[in-house]
Amino acid sequence: MGREVRRVALDFEHPIRERWSGFVNPHYLECPAHCGGGYSEEYRFLEPHVRTLLRDAEKKGGAALKIATALAEREPFPFGFEGMATYVTTEKILALAGALLTCPVCGGSGVDPKIQSVYDAWVPTPPPPGDGWQMWETTSEGSPISPVFSTPEDLAHWLSNSRASSFGDDTATYEQWLGMIQGPGWALDLVIQDDRLMTGIALAASQSETGKTT
Ligand SMILES: [Zn+2]
Repeated sequence: MGREVRRVALDFEHPIRERWSGFVNPHYLECPAHCGGGYSEEYRFLEPHVRTLLRDAEKKGGAALKIATALAEREPFPFGFEGMATYVTTEKILALAGALLTCPVCGGSGVDPKIQSVYDAWVPTPPPPGDGWQMWETTSEGSPISPVFSTPEDLAHWLSNSRASSFGDDTATYEQWLGMIQGPGWALDLVIQDDRLMTGIALAASQSETGKTT
């Protein structure tokens, strides 16, 4: 979930922030159990309660937080317990209750078993490849968030000048964008590094600097 640089044809034109249809599986049909992406009824019942429990425990601190931390097998992040903490805790309670974690109708895939095989056989169509540089967001199926440029520098300039979002309202500098483009080429929205919450762009940029010095 984040940003990804793609090499596309220089004349590739697609509206910015509009989903690229080649990444959208046309065979998708929701599981008839409406299982919210493959979860059992028991999971769907319990999960919101666990989320509230963890949030309350974090606010309260002390003994409550100790229990929550033990159940979730992790300390809360600066912004609170995250989705994985909720999942781990819910999973434990379901196991104690001898209840299912995944949806028995679709086996956890979240799609209708009738179309599962054609759904799985579908292959995404990437945008036409070429010499261009373009930034994409991967939080939805995938949409370009910049025009196509002929060099990484031009793309980084555009991204910093247009104050393109690296995560929410948080923007990145020219050096950070360029570091990400020429380094890993992709970045998560938010990451925890050395107990510090930072945007994935900033981390990717710092990693590519580290890479240069070694
Ligand atoms: Zn299902």
